[in-house]
Amino acid sequence: MNALLSVSDKTGIVEFAQALHALGIKLISTGGTAKLLADQGLPVTEVAEVTGFPEMLDGRVKTLHPKVHGGLLARRDVPAHMAALKAHAIDTIDLAVINLYPFEATVAKPGCTLEDAIENIDIGGPAMVRSAAKNWKDVGVITDATQYPQVLAELQASGQLTLATKFALSVAAFNRVAQYDAAISNYLSAISFDETASAPALALFPAQTNSNFIKLQDLRYGENPHQSAAFYRDLHPAPGSLVTAVQLQGKELSYNNIGDADAAWECVKSFDGSVDGAACVIVKHANPCGVAVGTDALQAYSKAFQTDPTSAFGGIIAVNCTLDEAAALQMSKQFIEVLMAPDFTPEALAVFKTKVNVRILKIALPPGGTTDWANGRNATDIKRVGSGLLMQTADNHELTLADLKVVTKVQPTAEQLQDLLFAWKIGKFVKSNAIVFCKGGMTMGVGAGQMSRLDSARIASIKAQAAGLSLTGTAVASDAFFPFRDGLDVVVDAGATCIIQPGGSMRDQEVIDAADERGVAMVFSGVRHFRH
Ligand code: 5GP
Repeated sequence: MNALLSVSDKTGIVEFAQALHALGIKLISTGGTAKLLADQGLPVTEVAEVTGFPEMLDGRVKTLHPKVHGGLLARRDVPAHMAALKAHAIDTIDLAVINLYPFEATVAKPGCTLEDAIENIDIGGPAMVRSAAKNWKDVGVITDATQYPQVLAELQASGQLTLATKFALSVAAFNRVAQYDAAISNYLSAISFDETASAPALALFPAQTNSNFIKLQDLRYGENPHQSAAFYRDLHPAPGSLVTAVQLQGKELSYNNIGDADAAWECVKSFDGSVDGAACVIVKHANPCGVAVGTDALQAYSKAFQTDPTSAFGGIIAVNCTLDEAAALQMSKQFIEVLMAPDFTPEALAVFKTKVNVRILKIALPPGGTTDWANGRNATDIKRVGSGLLMQTADNHELTLADLKVVTKVQPTAEQLQDLLFAWKIGKFVKSNAIVFCKGGMTMGVGAGQMSRLDSARIASIKAQAAGLSLTGTAVASDAFFPFRDGLDVVVDAGATCIIQPGGSMRDQEVIDAADERGVAMVFSGVRHFRH
């Protein structure tokens, strides 16, 4: 049996090689490894002697040779393969003991240059690992020092490795190479090659997106202080997304700040300034607690704040237009965690100069405009579950007037239709069960995240009352259908005169009859917006 040993991490290699030698296995090795083994008195054949070529180009070419890869790849059960080895005087290699140049450790060092990183990309090592792993029935491939004891135990017990062991080693080897290449891809993708200081390298090949994520920063902690956390971004972030934000001032963003800021930004982005006017969203604990549109940022903010001033304290505020001084002055009266806008006037920024803790993020809106849903939005949502991953296409559905189906005798007025669409737009960003009362381009009561739709409806009206708002004549959105008439009764009792809901319940007729009985208008959207 012949073993080829070529390792960068030399942990345990001497003892392992000694044991292989004791079993009568011939040792072949590359420069540094061979020297170490020879220094320990082991008989070792240099790869250069096997290939008839010296290691060259600073080690870039050591084992890339048919004498090595032929010995690894030849199928022992195919006579033509064995005849080819014989014809070219190639010996089989039955054990490949390889670990790779320390690319990950190199790039983790502070101040690592691109040149250092490139020199630590192993070429011949992964090639041998792949050859050996492909020919797993005939070759045992050992890619980590932790595998030495088990491999040795089997060799010592029976003089060979079982097929099951060789298969497991092969799988581990392919996993290692995949991980290694991912590390290289991640590192290089995060680099802006700015020889000309023009466009960043990232933008050059946007079509080549994959599921890799790049670490942006370690966070102080996660959702709670005992959890550690980091913030990653897509390899190719969508324009207009949160990760493209530039922080203009304030403390470092926390894990919860980022989650809430994303919720606020995604919601405010759904308002098109040229159609809806200025929009403002205030988020607390991932739910909008106030959303409004207005003629300018000041008006939109003032209305949004009115919905729930108690919850707005310590909130995350996003507007879809340039933030000016008037709005900034009004906002500065409340405690703000994060403030987001596509732009800020110098006067607006000056307002917050003394409030050094307020985190201010400038995020460009997607170039296609805020109504361009494909632009600046995630294509997929990902959620972790116990040892698994849930993936779905993102909830990017946008409802238009034409999609609405009036199901009651009472027809909604044009104004009510506008309120219904507004309420529906917001309901999508409220955790289920969501009930949202709106009127005149502002939220009047938001009921979020309850296990019962009835409770969400009740909470929304309690909150409106606490804020001193009247729900009389409001439009209400329910993110999913009313399974019974009781939910409808609660919102009508609270003052709603028109309702939007998906429809589709077994008891739709019961709910429609109830709406007719109460003399309110109801429309079906045909779409549900669960958000968990
Ligand atoms: P040594 O310390 O034995 O000189 O080198 C061992 C390292 O060289 C191992 O990490 C192995 O993966 C790597 N290696 C083996 N053959 C080649 C080759 O042909 N080119 C490159 N770049 N690395 C190789």
